[in-house]
Amino acid sequence: MKPKRLLWQLYPSYLLITLISLAAIGWYASSSMQQFYYTQVAEDLKASARVIEEQVLASYETGDSVSLDELCKMLGTAGKRRITVIETSGKVLADSQENPKQMDNHSDRPEIIEAMKNLTSSKIRFSRTLGLDMMYVAIPLKTQDRVIAILRIAKPVSAINEQLKSIYYKILIGASFVAVFAALLSLVVSRRISKPLEELRKGAELFADGDLSHKLSAGNCQEIDAVAKAMNQMAEEIDGRISIISRQRNEHKAVLSSMVEAVLAVDSQQRLITLNSSAAEMFGVKIFDAKGRTLQEIIRNPALQHFVTNSLAGSEPIEDNITLLKDNSEHFLQAKSSVLQDEQGQKIGILVVLNDITKLKQLEQVRRDFVANVSHELKTPITSVKGFVETLLEGAMKKPAEAKRFLDIIAKQTNRMDAIIDDLLALSRIEQQAEKAEIERENGCIKDVLESAIELCRNKAQTKQIEIELRCADALATNINMPLLEQAVVNLLDNAIKYSPAGSKVGVVAAQADEQISITVTDFGCGIDKELLARIFERFYVVDKARSRKLGGTGLGLAIVKHIAGAHNGSVTVESKPGSGSIFTIKLPA
Ligand code: ADP
Repeated sequence: MKPKRLLWQLYPSYLLITLISLAAIGWYASSSMQQFYYTQVAEDLKASARVIEEQVLASYETGDSVSLDELCKMLGTAGKRRITVIETSGKVLADSQENPKQMDNHSDRPEIIEAMKNLTSSKIRFSRTLGLDMMYVAIPLKTQDRVIAILRIAKPVSAINEQLKSIYYKILIGASFVAVFAALLSLVVSRRISKPLEELRKGAELFADGDLSHKLSAGNCQEIDAVAKAMNQMAEEIDGRISIISRQRNEHKAVLSSMVEAVLAVDSQQRLITLNSSAAEMFGVKIFDAKGRTLQEIIRNPALQHFVTNSLAGSEPIEDNITLLKDNSEHFLQAKSSVLQDEQGQKIGILVVLNDITKLKQLEQVRRDFVANVSHELKTPITSVKGFVETLLEGAMKKPAEAKRFLDIIAKQTNRMDAIIDDLLALSRIEQQAEKAEIERENGCIKDVLESAIELCRNKAQTKQIEIELRCADALATNINMPLLEQAVVNLLDNAIKYSPAGSKVGVVAAQADEQISITVTDFGCGIDKELLARIFERFYVVDKARSRKLGGTGLGLAIVKHIAGAHNGSVTVESKPGSGSIFTIKLPA
């Protein structure tokens, strides 16, 4: 059942109480009034009986019943009442309204029985003679204290009631006025009681809708005032707590979204409670779509699902390595889980943090490869030197022609080792300086750098009759470390000369476009296969080992160029077509 408004609970109750009270008072007043009136009428009748008693007794004593009857009729008409005289035997001697001879014996009438006993009494009863309700008063007529007859005076009750009716009517009108007034007053009182409560209800609804700044007004009733104050205080506290929670939530959100690690929380049914942007990006899902769905639906990775199932089964944090296939490449993830608990300390799910360690693994691999490469690159010349030294010691030294040939080879191999070590040292120096941001840069003229690099390569170029052409504006300048940039250009020029046929051309062009200065070294040599272009900047990577070695290459030249460009916040790129030549471009910020 729908609950009723307080006003409609209070008002009808008040009204009912008022009406019942009015009806009770009205009934009590009417019956008291009737009682009082009947007593009054009975007293009147008694007084009337006493007044005519002497007259009737005198007439009775004459023994003339006809004159007694006439007297009764005369007195009855004058007093508008019925007068009857009855003998002690019950025989009616005279009656103001009926013929006494036709009336039956009255000895059984209660008022007559009382009067016979010398008592005066009044009775209301039905008159068999008249067929009406009557009020009777009977008094004994006595001579020398002996009851000789009974005088009875009666009045119809309807006449008495007629008079009472008008009084009842007045009481009813008065009560109706009081009832209407009470009804209005009840309405006002009910409203006064329910209004502050109604306002409390409205205020509570505003609180529930989130308007916690609303203030409930103090009521004029102590209890309601206390409730209003308590609710205002509660709203203030909730408001405070909500702002703390929102601030913490925003902080958590900021922390989560700025985390490089992928974070996801799942409930005990493996449904995603939340995930951060790194996780969404890692698994290629949208945060909004993913929330509430199961892990199996969102991320199809058996290893991760296995990890989550294991974590949910246990109560301790666990760690594992997971491989994820994304965009056709393998990603290595370090997964850590911890238990999520509710306020009661019950386990409600787990939090998984995934750290992409692919780069770390690659770096480790690069380091391992580097050590292997260095060892390998140095091992070959050392083995060769060792072999020839042993041959010399074993007697070849005594054959001058052979000894010279062997020593030439030894010198060549040591030069190669020297070149490798020089390159390695240069590389590590650049790396270290770049890492510590120690590379000094100053505004330098690009043309000067290019000219001095060309100068350093001139001999090699001339040996192969290669012409180097330079095009660069005199004013072109930017923040550079001149020796390093010179070395980068020398390395590119050296390669261009090495991998170009004799008599060809090498072009060096520097120009500025927008905020970038580009230095291009173009040759028309053997070029490089498209598939190998991405790898030539790796340390020790050479396309053709024998050829590179023959030409005195270490496989470190382009790696050095890449690091120098990086140290200038720039980059190096290559375009090449096998058989047509290559274009290497160093881009520097202007
Ligand atoms: P290297 O000391 O062997 O020249 P680099 O790091 O300078 O080592 O170059 C790596 C490889 O890139 C070389 O072995 C060579 O095969 C290729 N390469 C570099 N520059 C050129 C070029 N201008 N033309 C053709 N191939 C080149």
